[in-house]
Amino acid sequence: MSTTAESTSSANQTTTGALSFANVGKRYGEGPFAMQGFDLEVSPGELVAIVGASGCGKSTVLRMIAGFESHSEGEITLDGKHVSSPGPDRGFVFQDYGLFPWLTVAENVELGPKEKGLPRVERRGLVEQYLDLVGLGRVRDKYPHQLSGGMQQRVAIARVLANRPTVMLMDEPFGALDALTREQMQSDLSRIRRSVGTTVLFVTHSIEEAVRLADRVVIMTGGLSHGIPGHIRRIFDVTLGTDRDPTSVEFTDLERLISQEVHAQA
Ligand code: ADP
Ligand code: MG
Repeated sequence: MSTTAESTSSANQTTTGALSFANVGKRYGEGPFAMQGFDLEVSPGELVAIVGASGCGKSTVLRMIAGFESHSEGEITLDGKHVSSPGPDRGFVFQDYGLFPWLTVAENVELGPKEKGLPRVERRGLVEQYLDLVGLGRVRDKYPHQLSGGMQQRVAIARVLANRPTVMLMDEPFGALDALTREQMQSDLSRIRRSVGTTVLFVTHSIEEAVRLADRVVIMTGGLSHGIPGHIRRIFDVTLGTDRDPTSVEFTDLERLISQEVHAQA
């Protein structure tokens, strides 16, 4: 575990959100293993980025944690409990936001608390709290189509957090945003996850994004098109502190190292 992760989790007194993968493998149907031999321990409050070429199994890993997909072998646990089906302790943020267009911003965020059967006052409190956290209190009565992509993704994040998950799973969440919005979202995500203490697994195509955000970067390689199951190639600790300068030598050196591993032969 990196020192950054230790300081993050102790600052928030986070004790839940420990994820463990032991020799996890996945085959779709009767086909060959899409990914295999996945071993990883994620500490409470840690942000782990997963990078790797298309098809190496990054989304599969997130979907198995979410319980959207079963795993074919090995074991996945969250705080010691086997993961087998979806639950409110794990929230998913998709690249295409996944908001309900017929519901207002506030109603979208209120969905989870409503499903849990929380009373109205409590639900409203959560909606205010998390819309404020993502900087969107003023658009609570608007509909998704009235918002920019970045704002819609903020709503999606607030909706996930209103469930008070212990793990937030993000699959290329900023991939559809323009560069400036993306940078703003990255720094907001850093602030938000420190404030809530949630464990985050973050899949991205951008190595720079991974180095900006993560405590650790997991590099996956292989996949069906390489004739070898997707697997972890290497894991890097990111010990750059909280205020990261993408133009610093330390940052660009790490970026280069990771890039070499990503582009090496499977
Ligand atoms: P990544 O997110 O790294 O691009 P995925 O996890 O989406 O990779 O996919 C890993 C492999 O599993 C790919 O070869 C993909 O075609 C295959 N795969 C993903 N989802 C399914 C599915 N529902 N049915 C069959 N094969 C799938
Ligand atoms: Mg994917």
